[in-house]
Amino acid sequence: MHAIVLSEFGHDVHILEQKTEAQLDREAAGLSAGPDMQAFINRFVKDPKAYSIAIDTITVLDEEGRTDVQFKPPTPGRYSTWTTLYRMFRETLANNVRGNTVLYETSMFVSKTYHNNGVFTVKYRDCQNEAIHEVQGDMVIGTDGGRSGARTSLVPDSIPQYAGYVLWRGVVRENLVSDETKEFLANRMVMARTKDGYSLS
Ligand SMILES: Cc1cc2nc3c(=O)[nH]c(=O)nc-3n(C[C@H](O)[C@H](O)[C@H](O)COP(=O)(O)OP(=O)(O)OC[C@H]3O[C@@H](n4cnc5c(N)ncnc54)[C@H](O)[C@@H]3O)c2cc1C
Repeated sequence: MHAIVLSEFGHDVHILEQKTEAQLDREAAGLSAGPDMQAFINRFVKDPKAYSIAIDTITVLDEEGRTDVQFKPPTPGRYSTWTTLYRMFRETLANNVRGNTVLYETSMFVSKTYHNNGVFTVKYRDCQNEAIHEVQGDMVIGTDGGRSGARTSLVPDSIPQYAGYVLWRGVVRENLVSDETKEFLANRMVMARTKDGYSLS
């Protein structure tokens, strides 16, 4: 998303991602496509295809699986998936016609980021052939996750702290789900309480 905005404003952009194309295509996660996401897509994505569904019922189950609370949110939430949004944004970047350079490279592991006299240098390794490269720029955005190597490079004192909870993400193939379950889950978010936490679908 940062790359789309910068590219739209005419900047050259170079994205380095350690995962392979195949790994990225297998990312499975539901994502809320709230008002900010919708505003971003309306502004930056040309002719967006359908990318979200409406959730108009929220059901909370108790530890025994019985319905505890059920309600309709005042405004239906819009939900999408990581892959749907990722493909749409990749296509937007690929369709850049402004003349500036937009590079999206996968299987590239960033090993070091540093700055000197206002210029940032990013060193990275091509995971396919182990070749080492570097690229320079005016700005680096380190969106490399919770254990960000870019952050450690630039702010060595920052140490991630355990927030006190753990999240798991799971996925079930749609063809393995019964019609009855599909019907129950359609346009609905279910929060199932457990002893020390909850699961969301
Ligand atoms: C189970 C679970 C469910 C979640 N559900 C939601 C949700 O419903 N809605 C929501 O808004 N958020 C959700 N989140 C949170 C959301 O996933 C994170 O806040 C968000 O992904 C953080 O984005 P990011 O770009 O900083 O890092 P990430 O999404 O972790 O992306 C980091 C990327 O950087 C790459 N990378 C890492 N190191 C390097 C390196 N050295 N060189 C090159 N590339 C590198 C990684 O391969 C990865 O692709 C959920 C998180 C979890 C774990």
